[in-house]
Amino acid sequence: CAVVCPVDCLYEKDASKTVLETLKNKNKNGKICVAITAPSVRVGISEEADLPAGTDSTGQMVAALKAFGFDYVFDTNTGADLTIMEEGTELLSRLGQGTMFTSCCPGWVNMVEKVYPELIPNLSSCRSPQGMAGAVIRHKFSQVLGVKPEDIYLVSFMPCTAKKDEIKREQLSGDIDEVCTVREFGRMLTAEKVDLKALPAADFDEFFGESTGGGDIFGASGGVMEAALRFAHEAATGKPAPNVEFDGAVRPGKAGIKEATVALDGKELKVAVVSGGDNIAKLIKRIKAGDKFDFVEVMACPGGCVGGGGMPKGKAFKKNVPKRAEGLYSIDRSKGHRKSQENDTLQRLYASMLGGAPGSHEAHELLHTTYSPRQ
Ligand code: SF4
Repeated sequence: CAVVCPVDCLYEKDASKTVLETLKNKNKNGKICVAITAPSVRVGISEEADLPAGTDSTGQMVAALKAFGFDYVFDTNTGADLTIMEEGTELLSRLGQGTMFTSCCPGWVNMVEKVYPELIPNLSSCRSPQGMAGAVIRHKFSQVLGVKPEDIYLVSFMPCTAKKDEIKREQLSGDIDEVCTVREFGRMLTAEKVDLKALPAADFDEFFGESTGGGDIFGASGGVMEAALRFAHEAATGKPAPNVEFDGAVRPGKAGIKEATVALDGKELKVAVVSGGDNIAKLIKRIKAGDKFDFVEVMACPGGCVGGGGMPKGKAFKKNVPKRAEGLYSIDRSKGHRKSQENDTLQRLYASMLGGAPGSHEAHELLHTTYSPRQ
C-alpha cells in the first residue's frame, strides 16, 4: 500500500486538495485549523521552491502555511523535545533490562509488529513526536482555547508516507486529521500560487512552537540518539553533560550502522544507530545472536527522515540527503538551547498540564502508547 511505504517505491495518496478545501471552508465548518511541521520539512520544502538542498526555510514555511489559511502553526520539533524528555526518562528506568528500541519511526514500528513481534516488549512506549504533538494540541490546546477537541482540524506536514498510516492507529485516537508529505506541501504552494522564497519569515505560534537543538536534529539518522544522550547524562547525574555534540559517536555518516559506548553516571551505555531495511535486518540478527545494546535508534529510511519517502525526489536525491542533514545540524548549532530539557515551553506544559515531570501518570496517559502483533 502506497501510504505505508517508507522508502517511496510507491507514491502517497494525495491529501493536499482536501486540506486546501477544508481551509477554504473553515468558517462554514466552524473549524480551527492547525498545522504542525516535522524537523525535515523546513529543509525539504526549500527544494520544492528551487532553493539549494539543506537551506533552512523555517520562517518562510510557517508564513506559507499561514498564507494557506491555517490559524495556528505549531512545531513537531517541540513534540520531538517532548519525546526525548519521556523516552530519556524511560531509558533510565529500563537500564539493565535488555535493549530498548526507539519508537518514533512508524516504518520501524510496523516492521516490529509484523516481522519481529517478539521485540514488542523492547520498543519504547513513547508515541512519536507527531503522536505526542497531536495529543497535546487536540486535548490540551483545545482546553486553552475553550473549544471541544473535535473543533480542531489538525494537519501534520511530514517527510514520511508511513506517517499517513500512523495516524490511523487505534492507539492514537484520531488526534490528527491529515498528513501531507513535503511533496504535497510543494503542490499546495503551486496550487495557491505562494512563492515561498518571497515570503517574509513568520514565527511559530507560542503554545507549542519552541524547540531546542535536540528536537531539531531528529530528522537525521543519529539525531534521536544524540538528543537522548544530551538529556540522559543530566537526568542521571543532575550535572550538565560535558559536551552536547556526539558526532563522532552516533552520527552515522555513510555507515548504515553506528555503534558506540558512552559513559553515563559511572556506567557504560552501549548504543547503536541504524537506518535502512537491510541494515536493520543485519543488526537485529546480531542482537538475536547475543550482541548486547542498551539503546538502539532505528529509522526505516536510509539516512533517517531527511531521506524519507515523502521528501522531494529527483536525480539528486541521494546527494541531497546529507545536505539536508547538515541543514538540520546547522539549525541545532544556531540555537541557544540545545538540550530538550532546556525547552521552556515544555517546562511550563509539564508544570500546568502534564503532571509536573516526565514519566508522570498524566504524561503516560497522553504521550505513551501500546503495540500489538499484526499480519
Ligand atoms: Fe518516516 Fe522518518 Fe521512519 Fe522514514 S525514517 S519511515 S520518513 S519516520
